[in-house]
Formats: sequence, C-alpha cells, structure tokens
Amino acid sequence: MKAVKLLLCLLLAMSTVLTVGLTKSEAATTFKDIGSNHRAYKEITYLGQGDIVTGDGKGNFVPNSIVTRGEAAAMIGRALNLDGTKRATTFKDVSSNNFASGYIQSAVDKKILSGYGDGTFRPYAHVTRGEMAVMISKAFNYSFGNTVSGAANALMSRGIAQGFSNGTFGADKTLIRADFAVFLARSIDYTLRTKPTISFSGTKYVNVDSLNVRKGPSTKYGTISALKNNTKVEIGYKVGTWTLVKSGSIIGFVLDSYLTGNISSGGDGGSSGGNNSLASQVIVIDPGHGGKDSGAVGYNLTEKYVVLDTGLRLQKLLANTPFTVKLTRSTDVFLELSERVTFAKQNKANTFVSIHANAANGNASGSETYYYDTSRAVNPNTADSKLLAEKIQTRLYKAMEHNNRGEKHGDLHVIRENSMPAVLVELGFIDNKSDNAKLASPTYRQKAATAIYQGILDYYKAKGFNVNGLY
Ligand SMILES: [Zn+2]
Repeated sequence: MKAVKLLLCLLLAMSTVLTVGLTKSEAATTFKDIGSNHRAYKEITYLGQGDIVTGDGKGNFVPNSIVTRGEAAAMIGRALNLDGTKRATTFKDVSSNNFASGYIQSAVDKKILSGYGDGTFRPYAHVTRGEMAVMISKAFNYSFGNTVSGAANALMSRGIAQGFSNGTFGADKTLIRADFAVFLARSIDYTLRTKPTISFSGTKYVNVDSLNVRKGPSTKYGTISALKNNTKVEIGYKVGTWTLVKSGSIIGFVLDSYLTGNISSGGDGGSSGGNNSLASQVIVIDPGHGGKDSGAVGYNLTEKYVVLDTGLRLQKLLANTPFTVKLTRSTDVFLELSERVTFAKQNKANTFVSIHANAANGNASGSETYYYDTSRAVNPNTADSKLLAEKIQTRLYKAMEHNNRGEKHGDLHVIRENSMPAVLVELGFIDNKSDNAKLASPTYRQKAATAIYQGILDYYKAKGFNVNGLY
C-alpha cells in the first residue's frame, strides 16, 4: 500500500510540475482530444497558442478528420496573419458566409492558393499531401520549380515532411488535420523539424526603443525577450509580416516593420535609411604605426601593439551597431600616413579616429585628443572635428583615471589631410610608469576602447542621430 501511495504522490507531483511549466494561456490552448502523448501534441499545441488552429468549439481538435481546402486556407491564412475578415470572394462556390471566405480570398490574392478554371474554389474538397506541399512552399516562399515533386522536396529537405518507407511522398494521399498541423508548425518553427537547424544570413537593426521577440509570428505568442533600439539581428526567414531573428542567444519572431535594413544588405524589405540613419555612416579607425614602425616604446611596451589592440576592441564594439566600421590596419603591418588618408577617403568615411600613445620625458601623463584647426583650410571640418575630439576626450580621461590634457589643435598629417571630421587620440604616455601600467592592461585598453566608442556615440547624438540603445 505504501508503495502505491508513494507512486501516486509522485505522479501527482509530476503532473503539478507539468502544469506549472505552462503559462495560463498555453494551458488553455490544449485540446481535450490531444493528450501530451499524442504524436502531434507539440505541433498542435504550438499552433493553438497562436490561434492558428482552433478546435470544434467543444474543446476538441479532431485530429483524424480529413483537411478541406477551406480549412487549409484558414490555417495558412492565420499563420501568415492574412486578413481573415469574412467577405465576398471571386469564387461562385465561396459565399461571404463561408467561415474561411476572408482567408481564401486573401490567400488567392497573394497567389498562395488558386481556384479552378470553372470559377470554383471547392472549399470542401479534400487536400492531398501534394497540394499541401505546394501551398506551404508558396506560403513560405520556398523555391520549388512550380511542381508537386519540387514542393515535396522543398519540405523534405527542410525536415518539415518525410516520405514513406517505400521512398514515395504520397502526393495523392489525403491528409488528416494532425498531419497538416505538423507540417504547418514545422514550417513556422524550425525547432520542431526533424532537422532543427537553419542558417541565418544578412543583418538588420531594430528601429524602435523596445522590440518584443516572440515564440511565434503573432502577438498571441508569449514574449521571449525584448531588444533595444539599434540592436543588430541576424535574419532567419519570414512568416507573413514577421521575421525569425537571432541576437546572441535570443532566437524568435519580431514584426518586420520594426527592422531597418543595413545599407549593404540591399533592399529586401526595410528602409535603408536616409542621411540621418546610422547605417549611412562609415567610421574609419586608424591604429597608428605598425610593422617596422613600433611607435613610442616604454617599459618594453610598444605603441603599435597598444593602439592596434585598442582599435580592434573598438571595432568589436562598433560591429554590433548599424555603423559601418573599417580599420586602416587590423594586423601588425606598416602603412604610410598618406595611405591611411587615402583609405579613409576611398571608403567615404564620415568620421576618422586615429589612435596613438604618447611619449615625453617620463613625467608627463594623461590623455589628449587632437583635431585640426587652422586657417589653412585643408580639412574643412574644423567644428565637427573639434566636437568629436571633445566628446571622445571627455569620456577617455575619466575612463583611464588620469590627467585630462584636453582636446587641442594638432598639425598632424592624418587629421590635416583628411576630408571628413577627423581626430587623433593619445591614450596616455607609454614612458610614464602609471600610464604605462594602464596601457599594458587589457582591462584599461577595453576601458579606453569603450570610452572612444561612447565619445563617438555622444558626437553622433549631438549631430541629431538616434543612438538610443547603443550605450
Ligand atoms: Zn604615435
């Protein structure tokens, strides 16, 4: 008896855990006739959470009934957030009273479904596996060569559908609701596929202050996370007006309209910004010296190493923003000063930041940032160069916890000969014991890179750009 009681307790405890694991709305979307051991439980539950599938009004899914064309239109239509408002259609056998009339017309308008030559849609006709494959391929923009076998391959190669053991797809076989749900859910959520891997390609940026990332392509799905303005995301695939995106470990769906395309990704949806978009801005970072030219040396530390490492850290920070960032050198190579200027001009840089370290007599310490300010109007961007220098210097000396030597005019080749706002940052004195210890420290080099990064953001903010979410 005791053993039986214990077992009962365990079972009760387990069922409690399972119930608690689901949120209220998720629990409510389970169907009476789909137990957790039903082979399509996960897929049907997922679609139920987004109201993409509905039951029979009595809490049942009726998994074994054959799918009609009208039902298929409604399920695909809901998955893609098509307009399902019941209305008159172009088909003589689909009246505005038909429950799927809105979805049928919307799907036909989008060329996902089509009617027959005799002007009918046949909403109560059964759907075959082949028809299903074509519908899904069209709905999710798979290239399939407009053939049934091509559509079958498109689904099988993605792990959405499997063929039969005799090697055929069974294109002529009718389809029950449970199977349709499985194929549709796997098309939407790749983690449900038999091969749950996809490749992400291209990047876009969040263009609202807080963008909800959801478990599925509708506001009915729960929120996984929220992304800040200007966050870079990798693009998976689209489902209607939603896009599966990836940002670090976060993967989920966001509304397309809250993403802006990168200038280099071309116009596949999303505006690529006017003059005030960060994506239009090219920043060139110029780590000084390199190769045969070690720059200043102190306490066995070379300037060329310090400034390259800091530049690479700065590049990493900027890489997660819409800015385009380029380095004059990313390895230990020598470049003439004129080559650095030519590089910035050829890349149509909007801002130029050269990074150096100082040396004097061992006593001088602190950081300073130079801009070119003289009547000899070689670089005409004095005001903006000065502004950029101020913004960087204000951040830098605080981060380095040393003297503020200020922003000042410097008649230096790379800032004088350039044609965009340009500054030259001196991170500190490599021959000063205290500064040297900081320049030798990866922690302080990261602080320096972050300070320059924030100074660049401060500059763009002052110029009227939206840099929210980047700090
Ligand atoms: Zn230098």
